[in-house]
Amino acid sequence: PVVTRFAPSPTGYLHIGGARTALFNWLYARHHGGRALLRIEDTDKKRSTQDAIDKIIEGLDWLGLDFDDAPVFQSDRAERHAEVAKKLLEAGHAYKCFATPEELEEMRAQQRANKQPMRYDRRWRDHDESEAPAGAPYVIRLKVPTEGETTIHDKVQGKVTVKNAEIDDYVLLRADGTPTYMLAVVVDDHDMGVTHIIRGDDHLNNAFRQLPVVRAMDAIEGGWPDPVYAHVPLIHGPDGAKMSKRHGAVGVEGYRDEEGVLPEALFNYLLRLGWGHGDREEISREEAVELFDLDGVGKGPARFDIKKLQNINGHYIREADDARLAGIVAERIGPDADRTVLTEAMPVLKTRARSINELVDGAGFLFAKRPLSMTDKAAGLLDEEARERLAGLSKMLHVQNDWTIEALEATTKAYAEQLELGLGKLAQPMRAALTGTTTSPGIFDVLVLLGKEESLLRIDAQAS
Ligand code: GLU
Repeated sequence: PVVTRFAPSPTGYLHIGGARTALFNWLYARHHGGRALLRIEDTDKKRSTQDAIDKIIEGLDWLGLDFDDAPVFQSDRAERHAEVAKKLLEAGHAYKCFATPEELEEMRAQQRANKQPMRYDRRWRDHDESEAPAGAPYVIRLKVPTEGETTIHDKVQGKVTVKNAEIDDYVLLRADGTPTYMLAVVVDDHDMGVTHIIRGDDHLNNAFRQLPVVRAMDAIEGGWPDPVYAHVPLIHGPDGAKMSKRHGAVGVEGYRDEEGVLPEALFNYLLRLGWGHGDREEISREEAVELFDLDGVGKGPARFDIKKLQNINGHYIREADDARLAGIVAERIGPDADRTVLTEAMPVLKTRARSINELVDGAGFLFAKRPLSMTDKAAGLLDEEARERLAGLSKMLHVQNDWTIEALEATTKAYAEQLELGLGKLAQPMRAALTGTTTSPGIFDVLVLLGKEESLLRIDAQAS
């Protein structure tokens, strides 16, 4: 059975690239009827925070990615990591290195000077412990085969081969007995029964360092099969550079809170960023589970395009349930908002909106308090002439009983004709008076949503 895992390091937020990795892992497991596990890689205690852990879990939840079982915390497993390091040591797949930090610094300085690759020179690989001063501190290093090469048949990158001589004898266990990240990942993946490792292609090099541990342990005790690897290209900004803050929000919560994106829109966008199924655009969660496979994941870097995300978001906003949208918008507006009013207004508000922010802005007039505050532009529209026209219109509307879009439009048009004006010349000051702004839904929609009493109070406040 397929077991995947998402293994974020909780050092900030759920990065947009991480979210896509999580999505692919989740989809792959669901598609194959397997399990998707979550592992919090919190071994770097200085950089890991509870707040970051909460944000990751919250972000996954918001996207609807329900991982199986309780999350595994890597830091809880240090003893087990050390145990594996010792097994490798005992079986001769690892060795003690007594090199001091000063010696290693000197080694690196020389390599730098000779323009050699900076790599541990295996100086303790063929030496015996007895050659070290008694009680001297040591690290445990992996004894990587120096002959031959290692090939990975990556599900995304294809066949990738590296000469073993290029893989360093890296540290598994530090002098203080704590495991390195590289060891922890391998041990955890094995113990969690992970069959498929789907992650960013910035980890491809690590795969060549991790696989020797897997193979050594398999030689020692069996039951450590090679995992299937799939290294997914990172997300790049529109300029081709790796996605970073200057491209906009990098955390999922930024897309939710600042960009006003719906979770199903981000789900769809991330899914199709680097994965495609023909030219299908709208793909439901269920269809995604049904269709997703690693074959469809492209090898080239995915380019993040905020405009495209906004368009997709607009699409999902129009599809979304009005009461649900009203709930999201009401929360943003605060205590002044009335969900019933918002739900009723939503079909009108959402016709053109590409974000929750636009819905919030568009809904503002519904809850504005009299006297309305005016934007400069709106105030500029309400000159003497406009105020007189509003007064005339108000008279007609006061006696209007049929407060429907059609009837209101007929009345307003008749009045505009009477004044020999285009409808727009009348609609603009109406909009200013009714909303305090120069942009709003259609003016007759506004009248209907506000109702007769409130509409007339607002118009009369500006009429003279
Ligand atoms: N913790 C690593 C990261 O956040 C991922 C490790 C892995 O997937 O193997 O980049």
